[in-house]
Amino acid sequence: MQSAMIQMCPICNSTEWKIEYEGPVRDGVFGKYDDGTVWRCIDCGVSHLPPRQSNLEDYYQSDEYREDVGEKADPQDFFSRHDDEQFDKARFLKGTSIRGKVIADIGCAGGSFLDVAKGLAETSIAIEPGKSYHASLRERGHRAYSSLAAASEEWAGKVDVAVCFSVIEHVNDPVEFLTSIGHLLKPDGVLVLSTPNHRDALLEFSGDPYRSFFYRWVHPWYFDEDCLRSASIKCGMTFEPHYVQRFGFANFAAWLRDGKPTGNDHGAALGSVFDDVWKSTLESQKKSDYLYGFCRPAV
Ligand SMILES: [Zn+2]
Repeated sequence: MQSAMIQMCPICNSTEWKIEYEGPVRDGVFGKYDDGTVWRCIDCGVSHLPPRQSNLEDYYQSDEYREDVGEKADPQDFFSRHDDEQFDKARFLKGTSIRGKVIADIGCAGGSFLDVAKGLAETSIAIEPGKSYHASLRERGHRAYSSLAAASEEWAGKVDVAVCFSVIEHVNDPVEFLTSIGHLLKPDGVLVLSTPNHRDALLEFSGDPYRSFFYRWVHPWYFDEDCLRSASIKCGMTFEPHYVQRFGFANFAAWLRDGKPTGNDHGAALGSVFDDVWKSTLESQKKSDYLYGFCRPAV
């Protein structure tokens, strides 16, 4: 464990950090842990778990990353795990037509979301460091790039809608990352991103068992609405949050009772009406398990 944090906060440039959590940190799938220290920036509130890999870009380009999170680095495995999540994500594009537009998915992995959107979009751009997905992405008609830098040579200022689901918590420098996405966008373009919410109610109510599950070695960064807005502003974009609770009350109760997750496998413990109220209550209090954001170039 580290005794001090000397790194400058990429969002607010502060060098003042305090220890937020010390102890077991999830290492891939549930049940495997390795001790770590999570630091919180005193000024902007972002939290940071210094990664074990010295070069995160190399790590994401290898198959090791998917295997570390209990998946296989091949497109079919990705489809079977993630295809059914895509329509849920598509609702965030409500009010945003993608017909005839240029869309980009940053960190798209197997590209399930791009497959859903491709019928309407003029061009679908897949930006994914994991090269084992590229051949399949290209076969399905997407323009595949291994980095934002490579994509921006062709697409800087030309993208209407960028999406980036559950990626910003993985990168080395979230400000550099958002800036690079911002460079892809047209002046009236939009980025829709998502990340685990650092104000998740279970962090407050369950305590350490949930903390050791929430913090993950594959996530160096933890955000709430305020620090994501600060990061967006630093990158020349506005930020509008949208809260989403994915897991129902049964999962919450299992954490309190057993200190472990049930996911959504047990359905709605007290009926779906109660579960809907439960989810919308957490969302309205900004304590949902997921945080979405709409980032637009500031005019
Ligand atoms: Zn900061």
